[in-house]
Amino acid sequence: MRNITVLSGGMGGARFLQGLLHGIGSGTLPGVSPDAWVTVVANTADDLWVHGLKVCPDLDTVMYTLGDGIDPERGWGRRDETWSVRTELAEYGVEPTWFGLGDRDVATHLVRTQMLDAGYPLSQVTEALCRRWLDPVWGAGVRLLPMTDDRVETHVAIADPDSPSGRRVVHFQEYWVRLRAQVPAETVVVVGLEESTPGPGVIDAITDADLVVLPPSNPVVSVGTILGVPRVREAVAATRAPVVGLSPIVGGTHVRGMAEQMLTSIGVEVSAAGVGLHYGARSDGGVLDGWLVDERDADQVPRLTGAGLACRAVPLMMTDPDATAAMAAAAVQLVAG
Ligand code: GDP
Ligand code: CA
Repeated sequence: MRNITVLSGGMGGARFLQGLLHGIGSGTLPGVSPDAWVTVVANTADDLWVHGLKVCPDLDTVMYTLGDGIDPERGWGRRDETWSVRTELAEYGVEPTWFGLGDRDVATHLVRTQMLDAGYPLSQVTEALCRRWLDPVWGAGVRLLPMTDDRVETHVAIADPDSPSGRRVVHFQEYWVRLRAQVPAETVVVVGLEESTPGPGVIDAITDADLVVLPPSNPVVSVGTILGVPRVREAVAATRAPVVGLSPIVGGTHVRGMAEQMLTSIGVEVSAAGVGLHYGARSDGGVLDGWLVDERDADQVPRLTGAGLACRAVPLMMTDPDATAAMAAAAVQLVAG
């Protein structure tokens, strides 16, 4: 197995990728060649413009995590960050104050924005940024593709008694960062998704893969948006490669993040089985061949196998790269072993 394609969000996807690459590098993944290539198709529907800069949270989380530049405690942004730009902007009273850009991080957004202004598509900008972060660390073993070069934005409708309609629509980042996902999400609308086109290489990466992985990323606003790019879901359903996923819900709750709120907003049961059945078996019109759930959700395995999925219960907490590499090994084994 030489070509592995992963559909990734930010933190959950990045941690999984770290373990996957660790497993490939240490030769612990059954049947996976040590010089295997990992192609990451990353969600871009969280992207936003802030202070005139284009910020791509999920692309950057993957890039910084795999390039060892991430802040390990926060799980996003740069290690050893300082916040002078944020403080100075606040002194000017410039909004938004809730989205803080770190000083080191700002350099990434400046380079990205300048290249976009010069006419480069996001995919080429991402490739240029990754030359710094991915080449020295992983050699040629990993590449990062935005799901689309088009502008796609997740918006969340929340209740607002002060508005005449009784509701208000906010950008996903405002829901997550400013409101901390503390108010119920009524609906999720992904603006521009239906009109978007897959980024260069995205469909081929799925079609030509030896294995496609849905990591424990948010099933609605990360993997859901990637699958929503026209032709992507069809490519996953049709690829010759086995498709395996890992549950982002453990013991009935997301470990970190806001998958619970997002699943609730689209009416999906917040459980490992709920998410597995939401993706569905390829034999039944869905996108998965196999689904890993955590050990504490072992009682849900029969429901999933009954729906046509290969399923196993294994530890799914990404506590360190070794534990995560073991998850990746179990995923490979489930569908290819
Ligand atoms: P985001 O874009 O930063 O929100 O990151 P992702 O969409 O890639 O992943 C977020 C999801 O990862 C969360 O909603 C959690 O459900 C899941 N997650 C985080 N840590 C773990 C873990 O250790 N194990 C599992 N199984 N899921 C996790
Ligand atoms: Ca995200």
